[in-house]
Amino acid sequence: MNRQELTKIKKDTYPHLIERLEKGGFVIDGEDIYPEGDFYKKQKRIVLRNCNVIDPASIEEYIARDGYFALEKCLSEMSREEIIDTVKKSGLRGRGGAGFPTGRKWEAAYVQTEPTKYIICNADEGDPGAFMDRSVLEFDPHSVLEGMAIAGLAVGAKHGFIYVRAEYPKAVDSLNIAIKEAEEKNLLGKNIMGSDFDFSIELRLGAGAFVCGEGTALMESIEGKRGMPRNKEFRTTERGLWGKPTVINNVETFANIAQIINKGADWFNSIGTKDSPGTKVFALVGKIEHSGLVEVPMGTSINTIVYDIGEGIQNGKKAKAVQTGGPSGGCIPTELFDTGCDFESLKAIGSIMGSGGMVVMDEDDCMVDVARFFLEFSVDESCGKCTPCRIGNKRLYEMLVDLTEGRGDETTIEKLETLSKVVCETSLCGLGQSSPNPILSTLHYFKDEYMAHVGDHK
Ligand code: SF4
Repeated sequence: MNRQELTKIKKDTYPHLIERLEKGGFVIDGEDIYPEGDFYKKQKRIVLRNCNVIDPASIEEYIARDGYFALEKCLSEMSREEIIDTVKKSGLRGRGGAGFPTGRKWEAAYVQTEPTKYIICNADEGDPGAFMDRSVLEFDPHSVLEGMAIAGLAVGAKHGFIYVRAEYPKAVDSLNIAIKEAEEKNLLGKNIMGSDFDFSIELRLGAGAFVCGEGTALMESIEGKRGMPRNKEFRTTERGLWGKPTVINNVETFANIAQIINKGADWFNSIGTKDSPGTKVFALVGKIEHSGLVEVPMGTSINTIVYDIGEGIQNGKKAKAVQTGGPSGGCIPTELFDTGCDFESLKAIGSIMGSGGMVVMDEDDCMVDVARFFLEFSVDESCGKCTPCRIGNKRLYEMLVDLTEGRGDETTIEKLETLSKVVCETSLCGLGQSSPNPILSTLHYFKDEYMAHVGDHK
């Protein structure tokens, strides 16, 4: 496979693809192709550009949408340093939640002299209500494979793993088909496109432990051990999988890479905000009229997502809050719905971007119940390795049960706040460090609802 052959496949396949999409009622606006309706029209689809547009089992249709041209460009025109520089200049930040600059992570692995290095795609999507990664894996698996291969080329890794939930059987099937197709076309495997670059990808299935979404626990699991977080003595880019330099990025991060290479860092930088360029995919769920995946430029307000795209609250009710960031995130009240969804703005109001879960609550929802729901999830998913998370979260959950069942008093609320802060400060990994966030944010914005429960038993 070379540029000429890619171009031939594109020329042969593109007209048939467009014909099928036109018959299917899709809007074709230059490069932007999406189903009819305001829900899609008001989005900016970069990561989701191929989802429900191409046949995920057809590598030809992926190539027809410029697939694998970025990998070819990296192999034929760019040095490894130029690839890393482009990703750095694009400002792309990890979409798994922490928002670490992707180019800097790649550079940190690139400078390691150890010859064996690994690329890992974290596809262990576990937040309640989140299905962004699942959709990309099911409907556009090649975008992830191509992003991983470019990362491997840039940092000097020959092998990659995709750690995907076993509860996503369709995504696993889709990935297996895509890997086989890419290998058959010499887009993965030995001497890719006639170069001296070898890169292979293997799947590893997660067994449903939420904590395995944490990088070090995920690596333990790939190594065949129980998936528990490690003490962070070294950066993963220095000593990661089997002690070798490793880059871990999530599905959405890899799905951005090929387009950044094809269209340039400036193009990517022109979308979103100065500190959070690009788009973000949110799983908009809960009491919303039009739920589904929403991809918008970073910095788009919650109001725009909930009312303009999601068409407001179900049954004519009023909104009360949105929860962003899953069980580690916070609840944002309606008075802050003009906040832009980007890493800094959400953090400033006590929530986080997380991987992109966005749960909408209406006027009938009790915010203490919401905090209880998320704490129950964290108690179930704590791996038990460190005391603050293992025992602290359990005590927090018990206090919330007491409050919601009318047994709490004002000291319960004080203790909730104090213990929440202790658990955040002293837990070993991100799960424990962020699990009390739903309590802290609801206490901050909805304390009256906690106080109403105190009155229950009087
Ligand atoms: Fe395990 Fe929780 Fe400690 Fe993380 S914070 S290591 S999940 S017990």
